[in-house]
Amino acid sequence: REAKKRIPTYAGLERYKLLSKMGDGAFSDVYKAVDVNTLQKVAVKVVRKYELSPVQRASIVKEVQIMRNLKHTSIVQLLGFIDTKEHYFLILELCEGGELFHRVVHLTYFSEELSRHCIVQVAKGIHYLHEEKGIVHRDIKPENLLFDKISFRDRTVPLPPPHPDDEDKEDEGEFIEGVGGGGIGKVKIADFGLSKVIWDKQTATPCGTVGYTAPEIVRDERYSKSVDMWALGCVLYTLLCGFPPFYDESIQVLTQKVARGEFEFLSPWWDDISSDAKDLISHLLTVDPEERYTIVQFLDHPWIKNEPVKISRAK
Ligand code: ADP
Ligand code: MG
Repeated sequence: REAKKRIPTYAGLERYKLLSKMGDGAFSDVYKAVDVNTLQKVAVKVVRKYELSPVQRASIVKEVQIMRNLKHTSIVQLLGFIDTKEHYFLILELCEGGELFHRVVHLTYFSEELSRHCIVQVAKGIHYLHEEKGIVHRDIKPENLLFDKISFRDRTVPLPPPHPDDEDKEDEGEFIEGVGGGGIGKVKIADFGLSKVIWDKQTATPCGTVGYTAPEIVRDERYSKSVDMWALGCVLYTLLCGFPPFYDESIQVLTQKVARGEFEFLSPWWDDISSDAKDLISHLLTVDPEERYTIVQFLDHPWIKNEPVKISRAK
């Protein structure tokens, strides 16, 4: 384990100095790094090319092509791509705050306000993907949702004393940090490894010659956006209570529960959560993809629109 902490150097990556490891996957490691020319901090996703089949290689190239066309504050920006003999390097906007997954584990669960703060940002990113770019992400989950900066709670330096005007905040406790900036910060969607373009950008129609597209393809492509909406429902459920909507030790039982959409708002964990939040989740964890909320319906729901009351400094 200790040996793994050594930071490797890579041929072709001379422009970036790797600083520390931030994450890893099956075929990739993600490092925090600095551009030695500009001193800009970035994340570098190092993909070990030699471990990949031709199909997997092609999927990385597709991931890069898709990300290249994306520019949105809720989506991790691709800053560059380096293709060497042994590796692919994806140069990415750095998200120092780490995975939403780790924040949920850390806080056990989020208040409704903090959950809304996070999920709205994710939803705006999905709206951009679905409605403007015709892209489905297909891997929305807390490990792929990243905070751009470290929240106060994770810092080792002590918090500054409260601003005198902020006295009325009292009692808001650990959750107020997430609202109004300065605290938990922005949430960004990462990992476009499974993403797919479903609409032609110019004509806003399914890709290919529409007139010749088989019904099952047209149908599938229409439904494929709904997989992100299901996942969004799972993320929101998890944020609010700290555990996922579907779980079982046995994969078979779990699969069956998902297939039937069998979930509950378990007592006592859900007792004090608003009925608006439950209503929204129910519209996402709907088995029939045609009835499931779209991203537009999601953003229009009362629970989403109920913005937290801003604490005004002007007296
Ligand atoms: P994989 O396809 O292996 O899941 P990801 O792109 O999801 O690859 O990256 C793996 C992990 O690396 C993420 O879950 C996250 O912890 C970390 N990571 C990825 N991109 C960034 C980034 N831009 N900034 C900070 N950490 C990142
Ligand atoms: Mg991932």
